[in-house]
Amino acid sequence: MSENEKTTIESKNFIEQIIDKDLAEGVYNTVHTRFPPEPNGYLHIGHAKSILLNYGLAKKYNGKFNMRFDDTNPTKERVEFVESIKSDIKWLGADWEDRLFFASDYFGQMYEAAVKLIKKGKAYVSDLSAEQIKEYRGSLTEPGREDPYSTRSVEENLQLFEEMKSGKYSDGEKVLRARIDMASPNINMRDPVIYRVAHMTHHNTKDEWCIYPMYDFAHPIEDAIEGITHSVCTLEFEDHRPLYDWVVRELEYPVPPRQIEFAKLYLTNVVTGKRYIKKLVEEGIVDGWDDPRLVSIAALRRRGFTPESIKLFVELCGVSKSNSSVDYAMLEYCIREDLKAKKPRMMAVLDPVKLIIDNYPEGQTESLEAPNNMENEELGSRQIPFGRELYIEREDFMEEPPKKYFRMFPGNEVRLMNAYLVTCTGCVKDEEGNVMEVHCTYDPATKGGNSADGRKVKGTIHWVSAKQAITAEVRLYENIIDEEKGVYNEDGSLNLNPNSLKILKKCYLEPEFAGAKAYDSFQFVRQGFFCVDAKDSKPEALVFNRIVSLKSSYVLPKA
Ligand code: ATP
Ligand code: MG
Repeated sequence: MSENEKTTIESKNFIEQIIDKDLAEGVYNTVHTRFPPEPNGYLHIGHAKSILLNYGLAKKYNGKFNMRFDDTNPTKERVEFVESIKSDIKWLGADWEDRLFFASDYFGQMYEAAVKLIKKGKAYVSDLSAEQIKEYRGSLTEPGREDPYSTRSVEENLQLFEEMKSGKYSDGEKVLRARIDMASPNINMRDPVIYRVAHMTHHNTKDEWCIYPMYDFAHPIEDAIEGITHSVCTLEFEDHRPLYDWVVRELEYPVPPRQIEFAKLYLTNVVTGKRYIKKLVEEGIVDGWDDPRLVSIAALRRRGFTPESIKLFVELCGVSKSNSSVDYAMLEYCIREDLKAKKPRMMAVLDPVKLIIDNYPEGQTESLEAPNNMENEELGSRQIPFGRELYIEREDFMEEPPKKYFRMFPGNEVRLMNAYLVTCTGCVKDEEGNVMEVHCTYDPATKGGNSADGRKVKGTIHWVSAKQAITAEVRLYENIIDEEKGVYNEDGSLNLNPNSLKILKKCYLEPEFAGAKAYDSFQFVRQGFFCVDAKDSKPEALVFNRIVSLKSSYVLPKA
């Protein structure tokens, strides 16, 4: 190993450096992380980064990883999302063992924590409206003004808070505020609201509560209750860290958790925001949260991405403190890397035209052997039927070829992959000039695709025997966004690409594909990697999604 390689392997990201220091100084003697999604939508590739980062840290330091639903906002949350999130995380391979939690399970403890703050004189009930609170809060250049209710006594605050809980007040009539510093340069510290009245039914606690804690108050408590050491979140919470620290300090937790922020993962020209994905789903522009054009985890899975490819992608992206955007081509690189040696390479004709071998005996079929993957002998070989009538790709024949076209044209000899050399003799067209059949003759002495006299052919094309072919539907995808125009229009709407889905209804596959099941994936030679669609494919009518084509202009950046 060279010096250079050693340093890349040993170099640690900034979060690991913080953890190392904490362990060395005895701030913590273990590492305990968590992933805390809000169950208000499906997870996407950005969340995958957070999941694999948190789970990876726990694994690396022999610590623990918790799964926790941050369900403190009852309006947007749904049980459907809870289930999808759990299955996505399991699929990615992150294991929370027996530690699956709901923030709503701690509502009682959060209420007690608020009471503790009131007793310490660190929180008070305010009658200001949301509007007024905003007005009193000041701005980046102006300090805030004291809330006129901030002088209420501890006893009065305890009674009012109790009344808030018992349902005496309507939504917005009263709030509980932390007493911190109205003059703080950090607006988050200007007596933030920590509890609000909201008469709503919660998916877990039903109608037990009509007051709900605010995120900035609830999150540190959740972490502290679970014994989280390193609470990893994204950059937008950096300015909230002083409040996080204030909450865990004032509540006197023996081992206060530490919040660490990292940059969100963004993909260039790709819709990742939950809000936008939701809109596409609700407007019926896509076929649900798992539409293969999306980058939700469910969609990536349905498209044919693997957990390994997503892990590789996240590793290549690294962990950073500054926002940046990654090319979708990098994700494509990762799935090609993962599948290229693992999956069989078989023949499928997507845009078929018939090829007739005029000198091949009518009614005869034979069986030819083909390796499943030339890069991986372990995948073995298979038998492919061959006969007089085949299907080839329409674009593999041209009556009048341009220069450097080495495939079928009258007079040219090409190789039928794994089969014989054939010489094109012409074609049959319909009245409108469409090619209906291509004709050729074969050289029986070239079985396997090579001639005894060593003559060379430049083109090799794939084919499927017409008699035994399986008919399948194939779906080809492009970015749902029109990249030329950018993601958003001036009015904030998305710039959609009208060609993002192309459906090929009548493709022909070699019979070996029979029995392919949901999520099975293959390389279609010369065409790319394809995966059996989990929603629409049936044993008698297979449907495939193209995961990615074979060619790429993507060059992996040097580390
Ligand atoms: P979105 O903005 O897409 O709606 P969110 O941040 O509201 O996502 P949460 O359910 O609150 O979604 O997030 C759960 C965790 O995932 C949080 O710790 C959040 O910081 C992290 N996360 C969300 N988006 C990304 C991203 N693009 N890259 C990395 N981590 C992310
Ligand atoms: Mg959120």
